[in-house]
Amino acid sequence: MVIIGGGLSGSSTALNLSKKGYSVLIIEKEKFQDYIPCAGGMASSMQRFLPLDIKDSIESKIKNVEFRWKATDNVTADLTGESPFWIIKREKFDQLLLDESVRNGVQIIRPVLVEKITRKNDKWEITCTNKNIYISEFLVVADGSQSKWAGYFKLGPRKPKFANTISLRLRGLGEIPRDVVRFEFGFIKYGFAWAFPLKESLNIGLGTFINNGVLENKDINNKVIRSFGFDDFSYKTINKKLRIWNGTHPINGDKVLAVGDAASLCDPFLAEGIRPSLISSFYAAECIDQCLAGKIDDLNLYTKKINNNWGRSMAWGRRIAQVFYRFPRTGYQLGVKRKTAPKRIAQILSGEMSYEDIAKRVIKRLLTKRGI
Ligand SMILES: Cc1cc2nc3c(=O)[nH]c(=O)nc-3n(C[C@H](O)[C@H](O)[C@H](O)COP(=O)(O)OP(=O)(O)OC[C@H]3O[C@@H](n4cnc5c(N)ncnc54)[C@H](O)[C@@H]3O)c2cc1C
Repeated sequence: MVIIGGGLSGSSTALNLSKKGYSVLIIEKEKFQDYIPCAGGMASSMQRFLPLDIKDSIESKIKNVEFRWKATDNVTADLTGESPFWIIKREKFDQLLLDESVRNGVQIIRPVLVEKITRKNDKWEITCTNKNIYISEFLVVADGSQSKWAGYFKLGPRKPKFANTISLRLRGLGEIPRDVVRFEFGFIKYGFAWAFPLKESLNIGLGTFINNGVLENKDINNKVIRSFGFDDFSYKTINKKLRIWNGTHPINGDKVLAVGDAASLCDPFLAEGIRPSLISSFYAAECIDQCLAGKIDDLNLYTKKINNNWGRSMAWGRRIAQVFYRFPRTGYQLGVKRKTAPKRIAQILSGEMSYEDIAKRVIKRLLTKRGI
């Protein structure tokens, strides 16, 4: 197998495939990344999609989720139970997956770019900038939100949708407790800001999700950072366009499939991309394995599984985002300040509930209220 991209989706697909005994090569364009723009929040339930223990990469186990409207109007959701939401440091997490993959025989070449991919004798022939040609049976496209190859193979939406994000990491935690994540609404048009604690620093992010909103207003950005408890700060930001879920589309072709951001799986409401990366990597490896074992004829089952396990919820996530970010004040009052809302949001973050479950409840409530 050849995997294009050695980020989270690429390395977790490689790991899953190598555990099943396949020979895997990852082609990664970057030499080394000492900072990955990602806040690192993930549902602990995702451990089950990985064939290794990830506890060494956990920086924080979250007990409470705080919501604010313009730094006031606090709402706190209690994540009771078995710390269902973790913060991992992505650089550490990705490396852990890569190291375990390499121990299992996976090879990675970096920094190398793929120049050309052709089909010859039912195999993929991949020509790279290092002038080598690699031959593979299956091809996994895992080149992230700026994917070049998803479009080439017609995987995912023809016109991908993007959220604009800015991320930064500050030393210290400001006023954010070690076991709390905060979502800050009201400052960022068509989106929100977040603060996720690592052991000794804070991952701060700002994102706009609809109408291609921009994040260039430094005064507002500084206001947000101050609201997290920092007075005196200097920072370097990274801007990233995040490819978000935009409808159900095939994410596989003949002996090729896309995983993670390249497949446009990122949550269009909360920018959650770790979960779909791990889920898609898991099913990608499973379907490739079944194909090679002759149990299924093609990879169409992969698209179906991802749609059932993720896409259906995202369809509702997108609807919620479109209403919430267009009318954020009302959205905050009705969606966050409702008595049961914090619990529901906590259940979404921990993976216990999907947007689909919530939407069904709301519809049911409306129908019962109207006596229908
Ligand atoms: C600011 C921000 C905060 C976020 N916070 C969270 C969060 O708290 N929780 C959460 O669940 N999700 C979060 N996400 C989303 C999450 O980071 C992504 O969904 C996740 O990184 C997707 O992993 P991936 O492997 O698909 O893509 P990436 O991690 O982007 O990896 C793609 C890899 O492919 C390589 N590559 C690209 N092009 C090529 C090429 N042509 N050839 C070879 N290699 C190539 C890249 O160098 C990279 O290593 C956040 C995203 C952003 C931007």
